[in-house]
Amino acid sequence: METLKPILFSDCIPVKGVNRSIICDTQNNKYYFIPNGLYDILKTYYGETIDFVKKEFNNEYDEIIDEYFVFLSSKKLIFFNSSPDLFPKINLKWNSPSLVTNMIIDYDDIQHDFEDIIQQLEDLKCSYIQLRFFKKTNLNFISNLIQIVNDKKARVISIDFILPYDDSFSKKELDELLNENPRIHAIIIFNAPKEKSYDAIWKKMGYLMFVKKNIINEKHCGILNTEYFYSNIKLFSESQQHNTCLNRKISIDKNGNIKNCPSMPQSFGNVKETTLLEALEHKDFKKYWNITKDQIDVCKDCEFRHICTDCRAYKENSEDDYSKPLKCGYSPYTNEWKEWSTNPLKQKAIEYYGMQDLVKRDD
Ligand code: SF4
Repeated sequence: METLKPILFSDCIPVKGVNRSIICDTQNNKYYFIPNGLYDILKTYYGETIDFVKKEFNNEYDEIIDEYFVFLSSKKLIFFNSSPDLFPKINLKWNSPSLVTNMIIDYDDIQHDFEDIIQQLEDLKCSYIQLRFFKKTNLNFISNLIQIVNDKKARVISIDFILPYDDSFSKKELDELLNENPRIHAIIIFNAPKEKSYDAIWKKMGYLMFVKKNIINEKHCGILNTEYFYSNIKLFSESQQHNTCLNRKISIDKNGNIKNCPSMPQSFGNVKETTLLEALEHKDFKKYWNITKDQIDVCKDCEFRHICTDCRAYKENSEDDYSKPLKCGYSPYTNEWKEWSTNPLKQKAIEYYGMQDLVKRDD
């Protein structure tokens, strides 16, 4: 037993913040808080026995060290083996054969040529699409859009629909839509009278969610909180070298303008005259793709930085590409979450982006 050494499962990856650390269980979409002292032990004494670690601390902290490893075992984050070299670390290099991996298309009054867009997306090898509707639509229209994807035999494997609440939608019709279309990852209905979520119809696909929040335009995007954390190896590895919101993303805003994200000001041409590939080849299109959380002010000190997505559209300092996302209320220095919109230090940016109506008020 003395020769057995604690080994972290390779998909359980510790991340150090300024005050505390987390271990990201990227297999099970979970994370666990640990003190920075334990993070340092895991890094410094990797491949050593627990007795060795205790001796390194002159046996003054044996009880605490035992507690640490009991905790890690109880959460199934470690196992014991005498040959740690047999268990290499996970490779965190991220790559994709797709020129674009994900797309957002916003709908308001203008109808986009969806058939043409899907053909272009197919050429770019894009697999994930999100369609946001700011105005009411009908389920036949949604079905027709999916039919276009089916007819093209496109490689799109996941479509999210974000739709305004409409009391003419019955749960039965929505279920039928999900049942008949396994490419739908989720239908999220906003401005609903009450919050309600239903289980996925298939494993990790076919979610139906009703949320009370109203989404009247793209300014409602970019909120960062624990609900948007994803502890998975794709995001974790992508975040090492790339931006977790904009990397390999392309968007069409409600007016047909091709952008990095619909919330960003720069347009690379209108989809009526410019192809997605032409927009991608513009010298500025990829300028945010490699801004990592390790480079962003405040985020670089945050323990959540590899499971949190980013937002470069709305920043605390609109002129600084490396400024913290405006709509995050977390401080890694105090480990507290606070309402972002009422933070006095954010008011200038809120005004700049014209988001005064998003500020939460007590009255
Ligand atoms: S500080 Fe940055 S990394 Fe941390 S939760 Fe906020 S946005 Fe995410």
